Amino acid sequence: SPATDRDTVERLLRDVPDFPEPGIRFWDLTPVLADAEGLAATTRLLSAPAAAGVDAEVDVVVGIEARGFLLGAAVAQALGLGIVPVRKQGKLPAVAASRSYDLEYGSATLELPADVLAPGARVLLVDDVLATGGTAGAASELVEQCGARVVAFSVVLELPALHGRDRLGERAVHAVLER
Ligand code: AMP
Repeated sequence: SPATDRDTVERLLRDVPDFPEPGIRFWDLTPVLADAEGLAATTRLLSAPAAAGVDAEVDVVVGIEARGFLLGAAVAQALGLGIVPVRKQGKLPAVAASRSYDLEYGSATLELPADVLAPGARVLLVDDVLATGGTAGAASELVEQCGARVVAFSVVLELPALHGRDRLGERAVHAVLER
């Protein structure tokens, strides 16, 4: 059941104080993904119809580098869909669109590959953690810049104190857990 699956994820989830810098509490999904039941539970929770809002109405999964690749591919497989990566700048040989956004210190740029996302495609966006929402917001704008639509954004963990949802406007957000 979803409750049992959530218990499995919570039991395996690890938080690391002061990583990658002092004052940051880092939520590490590595032990969840390394465990067969943990990966299965996470995949079910992220790809459940109620979770995505809509599995029948999603055409493709978009995963955000890097942990969104692991989760996104599992979710795509479970839904019978393909996966498109949103990558950090400089990794893709052909780019459809690119978008910069502010980090706590400095900025980052994300890119969407050329020729793989159909105009009008209904996208399920996947990542591990929703913190300030800068990353998910930029990824959503990239998808929409290419004429596709973000049906929902699914994450394992939301940190509500950082108000990431505010950066996502009206887009549907589904979080398996909050911390
Ligand atoms: P943000 O753009 O602030 O929402 O940050 C989201 C991205 O950074 C996600 O791809 C997460 O993997 C990562 N991230 C941010 N904060 C944390 C945290 N406290 N623990 C783990 N990952 C985080």
